[in-house]
Amino acid sequence: MFKILKQVSDYAQESFLAAKYIGQGLSVTFDHMRRRPVTVQYPYEKLIPTERFRGRIHFEFDKCISCEVCVRVCPINLPVVDWEFNKEAKKKELKHYSIDFGVCIFCGNCVEYCPTNCLSMTEEYELASYDRHELNYDNVALGRLPYKVTDDPMVKPLREFGYLPKGVLEPHDLAAGSKRAGKRPEEIIKAEENQKA
Ligand code: SF4
Ligand code: SF4
Repeated sequence: MFKILKQVSDYAQESFLAAKYIGQGLSVTFDHMRRRPVTVQYPYEKLIPTERFRGRIHFEFDKCISCEVCVRVCPINLPVVDWEFNKEAKKKELKHYSIDFGVCIFCGNCVEYCPTNCLSMTEEYELASYDRHELNYDNVALGRLPYKVTDDPMVKPLREFGYLPKGVLEPHDLAAGSKRAGKRPEEIIKAEENQKA
């Protein structure tokens, strides 16, 4: 008799705990149901990188003087500057230039110290590849014009902080009914023009 009572008591206790844990889980779900979604639907939507974003490096071959300052200031001596001395012109002649983005830490030192400004950091961040050797960009790949989120007609560019109301830094704090995060650049320009008018 005593054994049956204990079994019933254990069963009731476990049932109570199970109900408590389900309740706790559902409370998190219900809490999120009241919030506005902030997920960016990548790759159909993309956030516009900030102005000083440090993405893929762009290189202008004709401006490079093969001084190798970029190599010396790089924490891992990464840029490969392949040059030959032209005896007639009495100056260095650049043959080949490359940076391996599989190793680069995007610190921006090379861009900062290049005396001819032939290096610049772009807003391009989509560098994923199946083969890491493909990340070693030569001067042709480095010279390619940067990809812009706003130039891609297949993508909805979003500027999250451009949309959030004044004083709001946490999108989760907004009510579920408030407008979806992000605004098209033309919408931002139009709103600014309306404000000025
Ligand atoms: S960004 Fe930094 S790590 Fe990358 S090549 Fe330039 S100096 Fe080197
Ligand atoms: S610092 Fe600039 S100019 Fe000098 S080798 Fe590097 S990229 Fe060329």
